[in-house]
Amino acid sequence: MSAVRRAYYDDSYRKELTANVTAVNGEWIELDQTIFYPLGGGQPGDTGRVTGPNGRTHQVLDTRKSDTGDQIKHQLDTDEHGLKPGDTVDTEIDWERRFKHMRMHTSMHLLGSLIPVPVTGGSVGAEKSRLDFDLGEHQIDKEDLTTRINALIEDAHPVAFGTITEAELDERPGLVRTMSVQPPRGAGDIRTVRVEDVDFQPCGGTHVNNTSEIGAVRVSKIENKGKRNRRVHLVLE
Ligand SMILES: [Zn+2]
Repeated sequence: MSAVRRAYYDDSYRKELTANVTAVNGEWIELDQTIFYPLGGGQPGDTGRVTGPNGRTHQVLDTRKSDTGDQIKHQLDTDEHGLKPGDTVDTEIDWERRFKHMRMHTSMHLLGSLIPVPVTGGSVGAEKSRLDFDLGEHQIDKEDLTTRINALIEDAHPVAFGTITEAELDERPGLVRTMSVQPPRGAGDIRTVRVEDVDFQPCGGTHVNNTSEIGAVRVSKIENKGKRNRRVHLVLE
């Protein structure tokens, strides 16, 4: 089977798409193309709805990559959905949730650019997000970070997307800021995200096209996670 078309990369703002079912396994279905982002890189899988040829609509509870990485599995609310390969379905993502993920994920890149030390982990959520830093002797302050990240947001930096080959990435290991979230390998070229004048790194997440779309954010908490490590929490205002 040919690899799924990742329509969420062609246009991360697309909310609806008609697709064809390519495989069914219980409550999980695969499509020839999808706007549903699969869990990965610290960003949750999308939720939404799928409507089949019989007019019945099912909730999509989660989205995951297949074990081989070249397909995307959508978890429906039941295995009695009646869908089969070849069926045409109308799909729709929970846009409000996804747009929050896009705003949050781009803010995580801004936050990372403000703290020039290794990132040891992170997660993006619609309500709150966090990044873990191996801070060493570096000092950080909640109010100062909040001021500086909001300044980057208001400066309206464009966000651009590209690709890098695995070989190119191997030659520039410094590009990967996050030690725990390595970009996915073995699926061809790796996607890159450039926040103009601010940040450039390999990242498979979905992002806004301009930092001004993020709106105001706040560093809500800096948690002590051992001698060198700090967990920085961020919320949308
Ligand atoms: Zn990212």
